[in-house]
Amino acid sequence: MYGCQCPKRLYLHKFKPELRNPEDEAQESIFATGTDVGLLARELFPNGASAEPPNAFSYHIAVEKTAKYIAQQHSVIYEAAFNFEGVMCAIDILVKKRNKWYAFEVKGTKSVKDPHLLDGSLQYFVINNAGLKLEDISIIHLNGEYIRNGKLDVQKLFASESILEQVIGNKEFVQQKISEFKRLLAEKKEPVIDVGKHCYKPYECDFTNLCWANVVKESSAGEKHIDKKSIRKFLGELEYPLFFFDFETVMSAVPEFDFSRPYQQIPFQYSLHIQKSRNGEPDHHEFLGDGISDPREELIKDLLKQLGKKGSIIVWYKSFEITRLKELARDFPKYEKGINSLIDRIVDLIIPFKSGWYELPNFNGSASLKSVLPVMIPELSYGELEIQEGGTASLVYSQLKNQSLEIQTQQRKDLLEYCKLDTLAMVRIWEKLDRI
Ligand code: SF4
Repeated sequence: MYGCQCPKRLYLHKFKPELRNPEDEAQESIFATGTDVGLLARELFPNGASAEPPNAFSYHIAVEKTAKYIAQQHSVIYEAAFNFEGVMCAIDILVKKRNKWYAFEVKGTKSVKDPHLLDGSLQYFVINNAGLKLEDISIIHLNGEYIRNGKLDVQKLFASESILEQVIGNKEFVQQKISEFKRLLAEKKEPVIDVGKHCYKPYECDFTNLCWANVVKESSAGEKHIDKKSIRKFLGELEYPLFFFDFETVMSAVPEFDFSRPYQQIPFQYSLHIQKSRNGEPDHHEFLGDGISDPREELIKDLLKQLGKKGSIIVWYKSFEITRLKELARDFPKYEKGINSLIDRIVDLIIPFKSGWYELPNFNGSASLKSVLPVMIPELSYGELEIQEGGTASLVYSQLKNQSLEIQTQQRKDLLEYCKLDTLAMVRIWEKLDRI
């Protein structure tokens, strides 16, 4: 798979693994999610024999165990591994029904993606050539429509899709790639490959720090441009009190709470700065879930109370907040009317920047809060904070319940500080625009 993305990636992976990017925490949590989904999917075919190797470097043990389990007439084998002419592969679940073998690979996504087909093509090729005739090969993935209600229903949580036709069509491609990569690994010569889009597709390569080190970042710096008339008109339409508002969300592959679906973004925190009049310092209010129970209903009640019936609700990039609010209204219909009335009051502070009414060269053509803030309000910075971006906030929150009380107290403080800065940043930007 690495070789198909970029032959250099395969070469580096095999011969210079120490040059890899350091692993980031968010990435680790994605791997952890994948594992949970894989284990859950085994419940679709329970009581199998596991051929899992003791570690990722001992797959030959898994190959031996698999052969033994097949000989012993096991009808369900997990992590079944095969080897054909030096190419090894493992399949998550192998099932024997009426004397025919079926292979299932489990993916933590909501549909079958192109890389899964490629992966499946190699598995099909190796397993068949290693002597086990497969009747079918399928991808088991999460069913995005599944809504949890009570105990997890594994039969409904997953969907299964045959990829047999596609993998048969890829047979020659697989053969050709195997020969190509075997040659590359035998020669031990680093391929010369330029960086490009392939470094991030289908997945981010783990050698980007190495290959992109000397690439000069393209600058799209523009002219300074301030359209006072449009900005004044935009600000003039705001209604006091102004509520500067921001959500933080967390999502999990397997829905944790009732009335939620796979990969649904669950708001667990918000920050609100309330500017009652044009002058004066804003008040601050915040909400943070307990890290254990579903935070949504408490959050909705608190939010409706704080936001009252009038005043503009100012966010940065409104489609995110609006989508979350619509989901809350859908999942908690008794608050639907109140939540929908909030949506009508939302104003997007990104508009003056996205519309080009306020442009500074150092924005580098980006209208994101993280690009605009350091240029407009350099004294406000995320640099000093323990949590500096939303991905880390989600990760910290999702692991909160596993931490000691002392760490929990500190991390709750970090989460509150991070989210508070997001809304304070909007207040300061609004003030600056208001003084034009
Ligand atoms: S960073 Fe890009 S060029 Fe370098 S190995 Fe990875 S995919 Fe290949």
